[in-house]
Amino acid sequence: MRYGSRVTRKAESFHNYHIYGEPDEALDVDYYFWVIRDSADTGRVTLVDTGFAREAGRRRGRDQWFTPADALPLLGIAPEAVSTVVITHAHWDHTGNLAQFPDAEIVMSQAEYDFWTSAVARRRHFALHSETAEIALLTQAHAAGRLTLTTRESTRLAPGIELVHVGGHTPGELIVSVADEAGTVILASDALHHYEEIDQDRPYAVLADLPAMYRAYDLLAELAAGPGARLVAGHDPEVRARFAAHPAHPAVTDLGRPRD
Ligand SMILES: [Zn+2]
Repeated sequence: MRYGSRVTRKAESFHNYHIYGEPDEALDVDYYFWVIRDSADTGRVTLVDTGFAREAGRRRGRDQWFTPADALPLLGIAPEAVSTVVITHAHWDHTGNLAQFPDAEIVMSQAEYDFWTSAVARRRHFALHSETAEIALLTQAHAAGRLTLTTRESTRLAPGIELVHVGGHTPGELIVSVADEAGTVILASDALHHYEEIDQDRPYAVLADLPAMYRAYDLLAELAAGPGARLVAGHDPEVRARFAAHPAHPAVTDLGRPRD
């Protein structure tokens, strides 16, 4: 579900953009969270990331149309029906609104949790991308036994849903692989903000580990080449060009229906 947008510059978005010798230009950015609904008997609903909180978005000058609790009913899903919230990484635009899901199990990687609760995460270049109160909510969820931390390279969350640790953008960045009737949706989240990162081999500006970021691009390209694979970038308006709109609402992209 696309819940916000902004316009930025390529020079701010790609790591050392000046080395490419290209003029700077505007870059459109979309903001998403993702809903995985089990179409089989279970009806299980998994929310992948929770967007940013209204106040944080306003403070940082981002346009926002809705939060998950506002938006899920557009798909006929009650917020209480979300049993699991996956946090792909703990940047502010992925951890807002967690309080809307007080009963859900939260799943993220151990590496990500350890990093954001460590001293180095409070240094300016990292702290800029997180919200202290939201990291505190994760800590409270941990204390309450509501947080599951993945430690393996690949973790099966539920039948057909795998969480794969890639790192790079953040120390514990996860991607999500979801099997459906047509093949596999590879939900990159911020392991791939814009398709251009893979297509032009052009790392994103915000990173924790450049070699890991390059390896994540290689893995995503390999997975995307699989039969029936659909690669979904985390912030690219191109997602809306590649996939049809959901019949329920124009802000929802239907990953099950590639646009032809
Ligand atoms: Zn993001």
